[in-house]
Amino acid sequence: MNPIIDWKNIETVLLDMDGTILDLSFDNYFWRELLPKVYAEKNTLSLEQSRLHLTRSYAKIEGKLQWYCLDFWSEQLQINLAELKDSVREKVAYRPGAVDFLAFLQRENKKTILVTNAHPKSLEIKLLTTNFNQYFAALTSSHEYGYPKEEQDYWKKLQSHLEFNPENTLFIDDSIAILTAAKKYGIKYCYGISQPDLKQDIINTHPFEAIHDFSSLVSQ
Ligand SMILES: [Mg+2]
Repeated sequence: MNPIIDWKNIETVLLDMDGTILDLSFDNYFWRELLPKVYAEKNTLSLEQSRLHLTRSYAKIEGKLQWYCLDFWSEQLQINLAELKDSVREKVAYRPGAVDFLAFLQRENKKTILVTNAHPKSLEIKLLTTNFNQYFAALTSSHEYGYPKEEQDYWKKLQSHLEFNPENTLFIDDSIAILTAAKKYGIKYCYGISQPDLKQDIINTHPFEAIHDFSSLVSQ
């Protein structure tokens, strides 16, 4: 069941990128398969040792702005991650119905803003394959505000930059921690994504209602 969205009360739509409009399987492939392989080769480790090392390193700073920072990881691992990501950019793909949903928001004159924790270089690489910039009034990366979406300071900065009213704003994101932060800040309509990675199982988005299929939102 998709939630019923109260479109007449919504003026601003804030959309996450990875796992929301784009299939998270690209990012999971990059961080969990490709990078462990490249790191193992570079440091003469087994794939298992490399995976263990990376998983532990990721866990230490999960949810912090650095965790999303390509420059930080490039420095830590001594691998040019922007270059590595760019080499596989053809694998970047939309989630089903995302383009129709973006076109619908444009037709309905909703102020649509991309709000991602991804590093500006990751955003740039994803744009090369998808060109979704045409559907947005603004593309923002939390790196420009100095806080990730998990923190209240992020939302204060975003609001003073973009001047939206939380009372008539819809926000869609595949992270429960981030939805919780947005709700706490006062964003009225917050929804999750039931299957951020199309190669993995459906996730539990409780206490947020989940969007299964964007196309059903368009036909409302
Ligand atoms: Mg996401």
